[in-house]
Amino acid sequence: MIRQVELVELVKSYDPNSNEDALNRAYVFSMKAHGSQKRASGDPYFLHPLEVAGILTDYRLDTSTIITALLHDTIEDTLATQEEVEGLFGDEIGALVDGVTKLTRIEMQSDHAKQAENFRKLLLAMSEDIRVLLVKLADRLHNMRTLHFIKKEDKRRRIAMETMEIYAPLAERIGMQEMKNELEDLAFAQINPEARDSIVARLDFLRKEGSDLIVRIEKELKKTLEDGGLKDVMINGREKLPYSIWRKMQHKDVSFEQLSDIMAFRIIVPDVNDIYKALGVLHDAYRVVPGRFKDYISTPKPNGYRSLHTGVLGPEQHRIEIQLRTGDMHEIAENGVAAHWTYKQGKERTEGRQYRWIRELLDILEHATGPEDFLEHTKMEMFQDQVFCFTPNGDLINMTHGATAVDFAYAVHSEVGDRCVGAKINGRIMPLRTVLTNGDQVEILTSKAQTPSPTWERFVVTGKARARIRRFIHSKEREQYLQLGRAILQRAFREEGYEFTDKALKGVLKVFQQDTPDDLTAQIGAGHVGARDVVEAVFPAIKKKKKSKKGTPLSKAKGKKSKGGSDTAIPIRGLIPGMAVHYAGCCHPLPGDRIVGIISTGKGVTIHTIDCDKLESFVDEPDRWLDVSWQQESELPDIHVGRIHLTVTNEPGVLGTLSMVIGKSDGNISNLKITNRSSEFYDLLIDIEVHDVKHLADIIAALRATPSINAVERAKG
Ligand code: MN
Repeated sequence: MIRQVELVELVKSYDPNSNEDALNRAYVFSMKAHGSQKRASGDPYFLHPLEVAGILTDYRLDTSTIITALLHDTIEDTLATQEEVEGLFGDEIGALVDGVTKLTRIEMQSDHAKQAENFRKLLLAMSEDIRVLLVKLADRLHNMRTLHFIKKEDKRRRIAMETMEIYAPLAERIGMQEMKNELEDLAFAQINPEARDSIVARLDFLRKEGSDLIVRIEKELKKTLEDGGLKDVMINGREKLPYSIWRKMQHKDVSFEQLSDIMAFRIIVPDVNDIYKALGVLHDAYRVVPGRFKDYISTPKPNGYRSLHTGVLGPEQHRIEIQLRTGDMHEIAENGVAAHWTYKQGKERTEGRQYRWIRELLDILEHATGPEDFLEHTKMEMFQDQVFCFTPNGDLINMTHGATAVDFAYAVHSEVGDRCVGAKINGRIMPLRTVLTNGDQVEILTSKAQTPSPTWERFVVTGKARARIRRFIHSKEREQYLQLGRAILQRAFREEGYEFTDKALKGVLKVFQQDTPDDLTAQIGAGHVGARDVVEAVFPAIKKKKKSKKGTPLSKAKGKKSKGGSDTAIPIRGLIPGMAVHYAGCCHPLPGDRIVGIISTGKGVTIHTIDCDKLESFVDEPDRWLDVSWQQESELPDIHVGRIHLTVTNEPGVLGTLSMVIGKSDGNISNLKITNRSSEFYDLLIDIEVHDVKHLADIIAALRATPSINAVERAKG
């Protein structure tokens, strides 16, 4: 373990101007916050953040990152608060610690990594400052180094799998090769210990046999290159880690005894020309292993990695891997994005740091060519426009930025979308139109009685949700027009003393340019074709004989009984408002009102109350009038909007009284408008959701009995 003094010394060794005081304060704060908490190893918990900070000093990261590492578990695991951290260490560190805390919460929320790529993108998208991710990776690395202390086998395995599938590729994505290798190898030890042990044993054997093999090869390579005219060459040889050897064995299908390709040598030269020169010298001196040459200099990896790779049968006939690069390339290869955060003496960085990493990453990606790299590039840009949320089971759902709870429901399953009635977002009931944010946990509430609503179309953003809602509306709309059209035809036929049949329509389909009787019926329901025209086409004999008959359609309509008493009235129950049927905004008809329908072209039928003033304007168009009636006994009480006009005394508390009276009568105010205001009185228009006209009448009666309310009546026109 490192001690406080050592940590400060480490940071000061590469950043002499680092804020020593802040480092010390963070150390003390974290130690106090974690108090007597213990790790699975039995060690004091505080050693963990200290080690994480230590790991990050290897990458020579700036003081803010080191302090964040010290504080990274305080918000989630101790009584310390975000406000405290911000107050003591400032906004920059506050934001970094907050970012790490959020990643930790997401990590706990999702217990399986089956959508690893999505999860990696989520973590990247949530790390608004890349240093958040650097701390998270160092945290994971230390947890992996101490994994063996965890007693439960399945927990160890889960953490190892997660590391293999999410964190190691993430480290690679941002170019941290060393970090990636170590994470993978630690995970490998847990996931496949037998394989790893045997590789380690074989390595031990080869090591004993070869004694100083790596050193001898280094020396000979150096001599070969110097003889070839290269100066200032640095060579660094190492054994590959067991996991990378194992993967190569899997990949190449080589047996254990054949295993010889276990050493890799890095050759670092002053500039790019030297790289190609050195390559020529090496290929001259040793036999080349075919298929191992790769030029990541002319085509860098998307994470910014640049090097030349080759394989040769090198000194003493050993098969070795060689990576050639310059010092700059080496720094990027080792530290990736972290290299951009390395403290550099004499170079003060003042620009807005929090947005820099995105630009840096995009800069790196800009170098990318080739179709694969392009794909990677596109993906990186795309996830900036995405939002990642969880199901209650921890499954990750990936949607377009701006997606709502309804989009989420459709992303889970079309059926879930069609039947959704509400959403619990992070445990709280929220409206379906709520826009989701990264990391939200969303539970969709469904009901068998629910169907997609035309209003959803206005706020959904995903293609799947929109297509599904539209398709439903179109099919439903046709169904409704068909139902309405059939009712209209039945009535029109009966008026002439005939019984309506589909067969009767077959003979006149051509006249109306329709293919099937259903098509023609739907056209009538939608108001494109008049029912009378159809009847006259079917029975030419009755043509235009009774043009003007007794009185206006209005007086005719008024003469009829309501409540479905008339046998020709068309019941409008079962027709969904907003599709084939609309309720007029002028008179707000309610179940129980005497009503009349007006057919409008392409829109179906609009329902008015029989005393609505608007009806006067349709007097000259009797063909558009439709006798309709309410039909009750629906299982679910429908909600309709009734509008009332009130005059109330201008005194304190009157609006409170008003809403209380309405609420007690089970009415729900959906809109309220003050139309006139004087020193003594207010005039108000209120829309109330009610079941029917009787319900509204009850509310009006209750209001009339209230002292401060002077006048109440139903608003018309
Ligand atoms: Mn931690």
